[in-house]
Amino acid sequence: MSANDRDWHPDTTLVHGGTTRSPFGETSEAIFLTQGFVYGTAEAAEARFNGDDPGFVYSRYANPTVAMFENRMAALEGAEAGIATASGMAAVNLALMACCKAGDHVVAAKALFGSCRYIVETLLPRFGVETTLVDGTDLDAWRAAIRPGTTACFLESPTNPTLEIIDIAAVADLAHAVGAKLVVDNVFATPIWQSPLALGADVVIYSATKHIDGQGRCLGGIVLGEKDWIDDEVMPFVKHTGPSMSPFNAWVLLKGLETLSLRVERQTTSAARLADLLAESDAVSRVIYPGRDDHPQADLARRQMRAGSTMIAFEMKGGKEAAFRFSNALKIVKMSNNLGDARSLVTHPATTTHQSVAEEARAELGIGAGLLRFSVGLEHPDDLAVDLAAALAASRG
Ligand SMILES: *Cc1c(COP(=O)(O)O)cnc(C)c1O
Repeated sequence: MSANDRDWHPDTTLVHGGTTRSPFGETSEAIFLTQGFVYGTAEAAEARFNGDDPGFVYSRYANPTVAMFENRMAALEGAEAGIATASGMAAVNLALMACCKAGDHVVAAKALFGSCRYIVETLLPRFGVETTLVDGTDLDAWRAAIRPGTTACFLESPTNPTLEIIDIAAVADLAHAVGAKLVVDNVFATPIWQSPLALGADVVIYSATKHIDGQGRCLGGIVLGEKDWIDDEVMPFVKHTGPSMSPFNAWVLLKGLETLSLRVERQTTSAARLADLLAESDAVSRVIYPGRDDHPQADLARRQMRAGSTMIAFEMKGGKEAAFRFSNALKIVKMSNNLGDARSLVTHPATTTHQSVAEEARAELGIGAGLLRFSVGLEHPDDLAVDLAAALAASRG
């Protein structure tokens, strides 16, 4: 791809970024569903292996379709390089493993996607990495936890499921003061509305399973960052442990990227309207939406996000019973723990995604019995408004 693809608007990058074509000149990206590559001569094989010829060797390391996805994502994110993975969790694990060794220290925000918290709280300590969990919105807590020997700080913003906003630029400054990398899980904000690298983060990870696919079809993930770090730390880990993305999934995700900005913009416009509708209901005690002025960190949200994104959290006054009656009454909105999908999806975190989190820790995270998480889809907003209004009426029992 031409070097100037970095100057394009995101919409253009999403359609053309990273594209390479075979000699057939196909319009749509080809799926190179091959695990390996053949060499014309023994000398060519030798050159491929010693790096004199940068071509492909084996699809666990790199694959032409996967490379198109990686290069499109890197161009979109303004990253020097990216490595795609089989799932979002493989990307989180890869990014953190590539940042630390036994004896190192990692600081992470408490409000993390469940499996991310497992990696930080359980898995890393098993390999001699000490970890500290902090309230991500409290900069003094980050300041107190980060110390010489801290090699990575990890956060998501907005957080799952209570949509807290963490000050990425401020945490980046604290991390850099001791030479640590800041790794940001940017799933909830999407690359359309938030650019962590521009705010000072060193590494961005995505679960491509969410908005990037956006149609509920396949798993995928990506780690994006500086080329030297990707080449020296991330690539050997991928090569030798194999969390690699399937070329077929890379193709599905390339198709997803073509419409990412259109989908996320529409979902966000609908989310802003539905958040207002929910806030007006007397069945709802609290609406949390980063695009609303009553979000506890509305100023910070405006500073680091370009819009409120596609997720709403809200608390039913009638607790679990009302939340269940509301969910069961929905006709268009489906119940699922996925998010970022074309279909609107509602989740009751306390009994599903966060069921395994101890009640005390749940309370600390603000996950009450009446809390619902709502991922706004691509249905017509008028139809969604009717569906929500009927479910709010039914929630009163
Ligand atoms: C879904 C998700 C992940 C994990 O991604 P998978 O593709 O399901 O492995 C990580 N972080 C966040 C914030 C997520 O929403």
